[in-house]
Amino acid sequence: MQRFFVSPEAFERQPVILTGPQAHQIRRVLRMRLGERAVLLNGRGWACEGLLIAVTETDVRFQVSQRWQESGEPRTQITLLQAVLKGERFGWVLQKGTEVGVSAFMPMICERNVVDDMEAVEDKRERWERIIQEAAEQSGRAFLPQLLPAQLFQQAVQPGSLPGKAAAAAPLRLLLWEGEQEASLNGALAGCNFTSGARIQVLVGPEGGFTEEEVRLARSYGIRTITLGPRILRADTAGVVAAAIILHEAGEMGGTELPNEL
Ligand code: SAH
Repeated sequence: MQRFFVSPEAFERQPVILTGPQAHQIRRVLRMRLGERAVLLNGRGWACEGLLIAVTETDVRFQVSQRWQESGEPRTQITLLQAVLKGERFGWVLQKGTEVGVSAFMPMICERNVVDDMEAVEDKRERWERIIQEAAEQSGRAFLPQLLPAQLFQQAVQPGSLPGKAAAAAPLRLLLWEGEQEASLNGALAGCNFTSGARIQVLVGPEGGFTEEEVRLARSYGIRTITLGPRILRADTAGVVAAAIILHEAGEMGGTELPNEL
């Protein structure tokens, strides 16, 4: 059954009325017929089943039969602070990170980024948010991963630079660095209490990597540098691989046998 993320306001109404690109997608692209059903999600963990009862030139309407809380979201909240990348690579990270289970993304501008200004980054927001929404619908996510405002590296490494529950325990902050020889990812995760849901931030550099100065600055704020092994991963591979390993270590990749440490 098709899944659509709708605005929380639309989600509360009866019938649920969709307009704009979403109505166009349902009417012209998916060519859904009256009487067909779809799962509608509010992006905050709630879902409902909708029966398509009206299709007009301007909107489509779903009669809602039941609402429920979706499961399937990881308890482990990963925020991927990804240096912006050339071409389609950043969009690729958003799509694959959403499929794997990343909860939030933050575009980061590093020393070796060839980006003239923040404007250029924020101009891509609409397209990037659409990539996240489509990946979340396709992969069956219950929550819509957030795309946080872009930040310069120097800002992003400072404690409290990201929105989040202030009272909650400080997140584990990891910087992926190909120059790190000792600290491994599972070593860094050893102290994590996954059962109550861990908050982990992962910083990934641009195509040219982090500078020594950026690594020093991150460490000065208590961010731990970790290696993903001797092979150099591309900037668009590293964050997705790290997220998958973290969620696997946390027992969030399915199956019934509990991981031995839980
Ligand atoms: N020049 C290549 C790779 C640059 S490294 C490219 O064009 O993509 C890009 C980023 O990936 C680094 O800043 C680091 O965050 C991460 N990374 C790549 N390989 C890694 C490894 N073996 N260990 C830890 N981080 C790695």
